[in-house]
Amino acid sequence: MTCWSDLRRELDLWARQGETPTLWWRDDDAVEPSAALDRALALAGAFAAPLALAVIPAQNRLTEADLAGPVTPVQHGYAHRNHAGPDARKCELGPERRADHVIAELMTGRDALEKAFGGMFRPVLVPPWNRLGAHLPPMLPELGYAGLSRFGARDRPAIGAMRMVNAHVDIVDWKGGRGFIGAEPALAQVIGHLRSRREGAADPAEATGLLTHHRVHDAACWTFLEKLFAVTAEKGIAEWRSVASLFYA
Ligand SMILES: [Zn+2]
Repeated sequence: MTCWSDLRRELDLWARQGETPTLWWRDDDAVEPSAALDRALALAGAFAAPLALAVIPAQNRLTEADLAGPVTPVQHGYAHRNHAGPDARKCELGPERRADHVIAELMTGRDALEKAFGGMFRPVLVPPWNRLGAHLPPMLPELGYAGLSRFGARDRPAIGAMRMVNAHVDIVDWKGGRGFIGAEPALAQVIGHLRSRREGAADPAEATGLLTHHRVHDAACWTFLEKLFAVTAEKGIAEWRSVASLFYA
């Protein structure tokens, strides 16, 4: 059974190798001010864990004034609308529509977020449902995207000047009532990716990405997050990375 002491042990193994276990935090589906969003922002501030906030442009009512602390808004697709067929996995940015239409939407969305958040915004694309047509990523650097973030161990660190850093840990049980997935499976994901990096099975340089969805969190999700930040802070060896350091440094 995976437990918190397993995470402490994994962090120790990194320290023993003289390596820094790097992590990052991405929260998806932000659209408006809420107590849940404030709670996420407060956690980011309290634990110095910078938050990459993936905002849905076509639904967004947030502005720069709603965000405080170490947070960077990034782009979560355009409208979070599924265009895939009824039997296909959900996808907004897939091959079903002409690429120029998809790109025009993305540009409209990015402009809207630049207006809403001013200099806070960074052009990092987080595709809804973590997927997009295979034809799109090679086009994104020329369109001005500095980063692309999906889910799962990355197959390469960059396309041209665009960095790719994914999330690897999803704490919501989407198929089972959208509550917390449970500490054991959540920790298994964290430790699994850290171990894969340490052993070289995954890219050691890809920071382990925590994916959350503040709008659907139950109490157990928040409790887990608080403990995860506390445990990773205990020995001062783990480093929670910002959008700037992941996609721009
Ligand atoms: Zn989403």
